[in-house]
Amino acid sequence: MFDRLSIRHKLIILLSLSAALALLISAMINVYVGYRQARQDALRVLQQMSVVLAENMQAALAFDDAESARKMLEPLQADKHILFAEVRNTAGKVLGSYRVARLDEARLSQLQLRLQQEAQPVQRFKDLATATTEDSLRELKAIDILGVEQAIHFDRQLIGHLSVVSDTDLIWQRMREILWIQLATSLLTLLLLFVLSIRLQALFTRPILRLIGAMQEVSRSRNYQLSLSTRARDEFGDLYRGFSDMLAVIRERDERLSQLATTDALTDLTNRRQALETMQQMLVRAQRKQEPLGVIMLDIDHFKSVNDQYGHAVGDLVLKAIARVLQGSAREYDLVARLGGEEFLLVCDHADRAVSLEMAERVRQAIAACRVERAPNEWLQVTASLGIYAAVPITDSRVEQLLKQADDALYQAKREGRNRCVVV
Ligand code: GH3
Ligand code: MG
Ligand code: MG
Repeated sequence: MFDRLSIRHKLIILLSLSAALALLISAMINVYVGYRQARQDALRVLQQMSVVLAENMQAALAFDDAESARKMLEPLQADKHILFAEVRNTAGKVLGSYRVARLDEARLSQLQLRLQQEAQPVQRFKDLATATTEDSLRELKAIDILGVEQAIHFDRQLIGHLSVVSDTDLIWQRMREILWIQLATSLLTLLLLFVLSIRLQALFTRPILRLIGAMQEVSRSRNYQLSLSTRARDEFGDLYRGFSDMLAVIRERDERLSQLATTDALTDLTNRRQALETMQQMLVRAQRKQEPLGVIMLDIDHFKSVNDQYGHAVGDLVLKAIARVLQGSAREYDLVARLGGEEFLLVCDHADRAVSLEMAERVRQAIAACRVERAPNEWLQVTASLGIYAAVPITDSRVEQLLKQADDALYQAKREGRNRCVVV
């Protein structure tokens, strides 16, 4: 399921989940710390109250004055969270007590018992001036109640104990407040982080989407000229540069391949396959514009004997020299090709019979005048025969027909004695 999501959605979910987890942990810590703090505060109030009461109780206890003891406990009614309070002398006699109306007898004795059993001695507050000893205070910290038991001394003699027990409603009220605040701030933060994560994910997805777009564009258009520029110095930068480098390699290989596929390796002229294609385009253009097209076929005279006499390598030198002559004679937009063996083709746009013949004659003379250095200071000369066909092509004439016409003319030139041009 998660696998099927886009990176964009994965990132948003991951960022939001980590934010939610972080918030949950911090909320739990806050609530726990808040709980401890609230309990500590409540205990502190209870302790301060009991210290003051205990001091006031000294005389009443010393003189066994139950009436005063009871009266002194009366103000506790004002605090509805105090469940009960009582003052006992060392013999265990209760001198005065107070209990909140909602507390029945059974629950009272249960709370008294718990206070007795669970209360732990505590370090007294340092800031309270009191004559009591260090272990004179015991306290009970439970989920539902808080209690303190304060020893009462008179003249450094233990004369009794004061117990005060309160509920923990205040703590839970405070906890509810903390929880609501936590919930509200967490939700708000989560919302903000969610919005932020939508923006943050773009930092990662935008470069990836750009790369995917570029790859799709390349595979659709087969255009390897594309180059992805970036100033990023991170892994995305490496990816972009790697992609661009890869395109450059493909581009280079493509160019080399198309060069190999369209040119003749020996002479660097257009090869036969490409020549037929280009000639087809020239023919279509000439037909459309109703302009003449000149087709000149050239074959070296007695070339076989050059090979036989001087070897194949010299024959190749001659072929290269003829190619250079042809290229030098042709105009920029003419097609110059090696059809195979020692046969060459020259196709000229906009060339009627006269222009084509003139061109062929120029080539013939240039070849006849060309000297090939077959060995140091040993020169070789060859001649060539040329067949020319020049006309405004009719609508359904084809490349093969034009070539055939020029070829026929070429053979006529051979028959007539070679080293000449024949036009049909
Ligand atoms: P013709 O005047 O009638 O054309 O006589 P020719 O000897 O030129 O006869 P032909 O055109 O039949 O000869 C073609 C020769 O071209 C045969 C072959 O040895 C040679 N040839 C073909 N391709 C190459 C090549 O790539 N290099 C070399 N050195 N020779 C080649
Ligand atoms: Mg030949
Ligand atoms: Mg020949």
